[in-house]
Amino acid sequence: GAAVNFDDVRFGYGPDREVLKGLSFTAEAGQKTAIVGPSGAGKSTIARLILRFYDPTGGAVRIGAADIRSVTQESLRASLGVVPQDTVLFNDTIGYNIGYPKPDATQDEIERAGQLAQIHAFIEGLPKGYETLVGERGLKLSGGEKQRVAIARTVIKNPPILLLDEATSALDSETEAGILASLNEVASGRTCIVIAHRLSTVVDADKIIVIEDGRLVESGNHRDLLREN
Ligand code: ADP
Ligand code: ADP
Repeated sequence: GAAVNFDDVRFGYGPDREVLKGLSFTAEAGQKTAIVGPSGAGKSTIARLILRFYDPTGGAVRIGAADIRSVTQESLRASLGVVPQDTVLFNDTIGYNIGYPKPDATQDEIERAGQLAQIHAFIEGLPKGYETLVGERGLKLSGGEKQRVAIARTVIKNPPILLLDEATSALDSETEAGILASLNEVASGRTCIVIAHRLSTVVDADKIIVIEDGRLVESGNHRDLLREN
């Protein structure tokens, strides 16, 4: 993986409404960094800057040593695996949805991705397995199953950087815990950025960054944060 660095980043959606107010942090290469903070703090905005929906109005976002503005769109796309809060699946087979980022993916690769995302047993249990249509009558994927498909989809891509933007925030806490546990294997060796609403879901992160009102208020591992409070 490569480190993702925010260096004194400023950004606002309008001229008089700065959302990120000089934000600096580094998600170290190969580590799991969690970004937590209350609603409206600017967490999704951070994700949008990493995806380059927008460029900062001040400071810089870097991937490795490179300013993100100098990274080609193609290279950025290859570097990032994103799991959003609400995964929208194609009206196609589950296998197609998992293999989508890699059109030449073999059935073996698709099944291995399903295994890593811990949804393989569920899919194999369906009468048509990976050939089951997502919109098929009678098949309704739960929120957790959809997110596991989304995780399998990022595995296929084998990206150096994984970005989870509130990927489990809408799920019940038991499902959330299961998915985050299965993520550890998927995330291993990658730079993993987990944006979360609740600190309790990311206590195992190497570093937790607490954002409030567009500023970093605390950072450290869970034990460090407890010590300060
Ligand atoms: P979080 O993800 O922490 O809830 P966001 O990054 O979504 O926070 O939002 C930070 C602030 O920016 C909020 O005040 C929000 O209303 C505002 N905001 C987010 N998206 C837009 C947008 N597209 N246009 C204008 N304001 C926005
Ligand atoms: P999420 O965290 O799921 O992205 P947000 O509340 O940040 O949810 O944004 C949902 C959508 O609404 C986004 O497309 C964002 O651009 C837009 N949005 C959010 N806040 C505002 C705002 N204050 N003004 C205009 N658009 C906004």
